[in-house]
Amino acid sequence: MSKLSLAYIFQQQKLLVDQHYQLPKVESLASDILIHPGDQVIARDLLAHEPIPEGLQLVPIRQLLQFWTTQQFEQASRAIQLLEWKRNHQFCSHCGTATEPHPTEHAMVCPACQYRQYPRVQPCIITVITRGEHEILLAKNARNTSSQMYGLIAGFVEVGETLEEAVRRETEEEVGLKLKNIQYLASQPWPFPSNLMIAFKAEYASGEIRLQEEEISDAQFFKFDDLPEIPFKGSIAHAMIMHVTQGDAVADDTKAWL
Ligand SMILES: [Zn+2]
Repeated sequence: MSKLSLAYIFQQQKLLVDQHYQLPKVESLASDILIHPGDQVIARDLLAHEPIPEGLQLVPIRQLLQFWTTQQFEQASRAIQLLEWKRNHQFCSHCGTATEPHPTEHAMVCPACQYRQYPRVQPCIITVITRGEHEILLAKNARNTSSQMYGLIAGFVEVGETLEEAVRRETEEEVGLKLKNIQYLASQPWPFPSNLMIAFKAEYASGEIRLQEEEISDAQFFKFDDLPEIPFKGSIAHAMIMHVTQGDAVADDTKAWL
């Protein structure tokens, strides 16, 4: 009798879970991705035409954040990113031949030229900016027209740039401010689609707020005791805002950013 594996089964950004938001157990297939070899944890896609198994439901992964521990979220994050990577590397990017999965590593290998494609993460900085002892800069994303939520300055690290340079550049581009005392806080894998969020805190140095209108629709310094709607618990942005305004730990060696 074959052993059952704990399964992360996705349809795009939705995951199959039972009514208690727990993962199903299934028989493994050769095409599954092993998340932790030996641990019987697998990831696979549920294709659009496949029926949803009895007793299970598809739930957006962002919604599951609130029910899960950090470890569960990180494993789900790994599963979703590996599936996305495998789906997007069916052909060799060097010569165009159909690739094959490596038998033991997470690598898609070209049988013609041997080129190996590995999963990649996109480094993305996120910065919490304070002014004086009681003010925090929060910005409203221009693409978010459905809520009044204010978040933090964030953006992708460019080729050849240090993380601190990315923090300075994004802040100048998005809100026109200069920073001082940039310090690393924590990091969080964020599988939408495959980012590594690298968190910094910084202090306002100079400048007037000037919005990059295609990215930011509003930005203001808010008093710590008078904040607008902020990102949901479970996101690193939430932990960073609570860290500077309430003195909560943003991360420690047990990764307790939740
Ligand atoms: Zn090739």
